[in-house]
Amino acid sequence: MKKIQMVDLQSQYRHIKSKVDFDVINVIENASFINGPSVKSFQKNLEDYLNVKHVIPCANGTDALQIAMMGLNLKPGDEVITADFTFAATVEVIALLNLTPVLVDVDLDNFNIDCNMIRKAITSKTKAIVPVHLFGQAANMQEIMKIAKEFNLYVIEDNAQAIGSKIEFQTGEKVKTGTIGDVGTTSFFPSKNLGCYGDGGAIFTNDDNLAHKIRGIVNHGMYERYHHDVVGVNSRLDSIQAAILNAKLPHLNSYNKARQTAARSYTSALSNIKDLLTPNGGKLCSTICDNCDCHVFHQYTLRILNNKRDGLAKYFSDLNIPFGIYYPIPLHKQKAYKDSRYIEDDFRNTNLLCKEVISLPMHTELDEDQINFICEKIRDFLE
Ligand SMILES: *Cc1c(COP(=O)(O)O)cnc(C)c1O
Repeated sequence: MKKIQMVDLQSQYRHIKSKVDFDVINVIENASFINGPSVKSFQKNLEDYLNVKHVIPCANGTDALQIAMMGLNLKPGDEVITADFTFAATVEVIALLNLTPVLVDVDLDNFNIDCNMIRKAITSKTKAIVPVHLFGQAANMQEIMKIAKEFNLYVIEDNAQAIGSKIEFQTGEKVKTGTIGDVGTTSFFPSKNLGCYGDGGAIFTNDDNLAHKIRGIVNHGMYERYHHDVVGVNSRLDSIQAAILNAKLPHLNSYNKARQTAARSYTSALSNIKDLLTPNGGKLCSTICDNCDCHVFHQYTLRILNNKRDGLAKYFSDLNIPFGIYYPIPLHKQKAYKDSRYIEDDFRNTNLLCKEVISLPMHTELDEDQINFICEKIRDFLE
């Protein structure tokens, strides 16, 4: 059996090596390191893939969130609602911009922001909601857009973990996550579903004015060379990373399919085990379905009940099976983001999930032998 890795980027690279190597060397030979042709073509290719009017590439997914918020003219003290159970980048940029983060609980069955808790958290100062499509699964955008409309709030989708995932609206229309709210962001961190070989990120919007504003912000607030109209940042996707992303983007759908196939194998091998819950695809689809793409499995995350998670983690470590605990501590309990207004009882699900979740190896190169091996060991431990 091939050595099991949490993410196997080396094997993935081997399949596309000749194209990647040729395109990277081409950037170097042309010395088109900054804003070269590969950046322009990647922008266009991603706009086509996502079916969105504007993609603005930038340096990483955290910058993408910050710049998206800068583009929306939010003012210090404005409240921004986001999930308590996510990676810290989301709440970090809210705080950095002197906005007030308002963390809310998530749903137990899909780990995404709980729409009832969003409603409860809205005040006269609330200006935006930041849903995170966690672990690759679309948040309930239908309901979130309804709430946003009702209370006149911006929606910024953190799509760092879910690029390529699609939501089918009641009208039958299928829309990719990240293109539904006012603005969406993503990360091309190497292990993400579409990863480059370093740092990278992008912002998406269908709003022409916002896109124009954001294009200036990523470039020192310049709309005309050496005219600084707004306070900006320097946040660029470099040309080498764009060349790599151009080589990988045509494979993104098959990469996501490979993840979904691995997820289905895990789910069938892990059925009927005591104290174990497989991800069920949540409320948007009742099973991990064949034809719907609302979950692209950035992570395959189990809930291990009755305080057995840490024991399983230890067992995995002893057997050299890689795993991840995403995330071990709720954001509202992190020193940097504590707020006296929070009541523990409002975070029952996040508090529970932080003790129960464990993510299994998930990438495009997993094979059935590896999956069966991992699942047998889980069964041995729990039964
Ligand atoms: C990875 C990630 C980010 C940050 O992306 P970077 O490119 O590492 O800055 C933001 N939000 C979520 C949910 C992520 O998973």
